[in-house]
Amino acid sequence: MGKINSKVTDSVNFFKGNKPSDLTAKFGSPLYVYNESILRERCRELKNLVDYKNFIVNYSAKANSNLAFLEIVNEEGLYVDAMSMGEIYVELKAGFKPEQIFFISNNISEEEMKFAIERNITLSVDSLSQLERYGMLNPGGKVAARFNSGVGAGHSEKVITGGKKTKFAINPEYIPEFKEILKKYDLKLMGINNHIGSLFMEADKYIEGVKATLEIAKQFDDLDFVDFGGGIGIPYEKLNDQPRFDLEDLSRQLGEVIDGFVKEYGKEITFKIEPGRYISAECCVLLGTVHAIKHNNVHKFVGTDIGFNVLQRPVMYDSHHDIEVYNDADDTEPVTVVGNICESGDILAKDRVLPVVSIGDTIGLLDAGAYGYSMASNYNNRLRPAEVLIRENGEAVLIREADELEDLTRHMISLKN
Ligand SMILES: *Cc1c(COP(=O)(O)O)cnc(C)c1O
Repeated sequence: MGKINSKVTDSVNFFKGNKPSDLTAKFGSPLYVYNESILRERCRELKNLVDYKNFIVNYSAKANSNLAFLEIVNEEGLYVDAMSMGEIYVELKAGFKPEQIFFISNNISEEEMKFAIERNITLSVDSLSQLERYGMLNPGGKVAARFNSGVGAGHSEKVITGGKKTKFAINPEYIPEFKEILKKYDLKLMGINNHIGSLFMEADKYIEGVKATLEIAKQFDDLDFVDFGGGIGIPYEKLNDQPRFDLEDLSRQLGEVIDGFVKEYGKEITFKIEPGRYISAECCVLLGTVHAIKHNNVHKFVGTDIGFNVLQRPVMYDSHHDIEVYNDADDTEPVTVVGNICESGDILAKDRVLPVVSIGDTIGLLDAGAYGYSMASNYNNRLRPAEVLIRENGEAVLIREADELEDLTRHMISLKN
């Protein structure tokens, strides 16, 4: 493997002796590769975040909902969030018990509500009208609700979920009407939740959201839990030595706020957090292959098989992923790395300085485990890639097969015959 060209993955022994090009030769390219040891480490870091007995980490499965991946998260003793029936379905298969699943719903149908009620899965509503619907379907039942703490943060407008501009949650000014509906249907409010947004690198905004959520919590007697949401960021610019999120700072501040609240509230309620990205991003490298190199006007383009149907983040959010080139090149040059989708926006990295790339080289997009495969699609009728897990002993095992051509028409109905 290269000298400087696999600096980040070498530093964490990511591939455990497997050569990236051997992996793509065996399992196909592009390829999502996960490292089990790193996944387990991230789970443990957050599970031990605060020293309080009723503290639960709900992994937010929308970041990555591969079955084997969820089985590992389950073994590590985390619980899970769900955003849909489909996530609940996979989570139950992965071994989570209904009481370990928290369904954070947004504008769901009666069918979806019934699905959760029938399985005894705690559901959080995020509007008065959805509370009313829940009350009609399950009078006398238990429910949770998402409130807008007024605090928002995140890496893109698209993922800021608290504050004035968001479609999410119930504004605290409606608490009197909310209580009326609870009473009308004899519902018990088990807990409240908040989520300010995705990808912030400092504890302060999060703690601001925590405090605002606890102020809302004080307006309800006898809650069982308060859930502070996810959004904890990871350093995507490792090649530029971007520092990690300071978990110790978060731990200390969160611990203090929890202690203060418990004393005032007079009950040792459960506190939850809902990280998705922090758990899943860094245990994954997305491998791809260089198929073409060309000069168009001012840019040198490196054409790969990683289109935005495989990894949507750079196009959708303008996100940065570090890139490693698994060759021995000593020189570097600025290139624009693109995929194979028929749209000019299909760009993975613009004017990025990389080791000089040749056709046939294997490249790796780092930190691709969150919102990577889970947002992949068949756009351009391209096949979604396989997923492979490098076990703790170094063995690489398949955890999802790549799509095959027949999969593309599996649910299509021909007019002929
Ligand atoms: C997406 C989401 C999360 C997880 O966000 P991350 O940034 O991946 O930690 C947590 N809670 C809710 C309600 C979400 O929608």
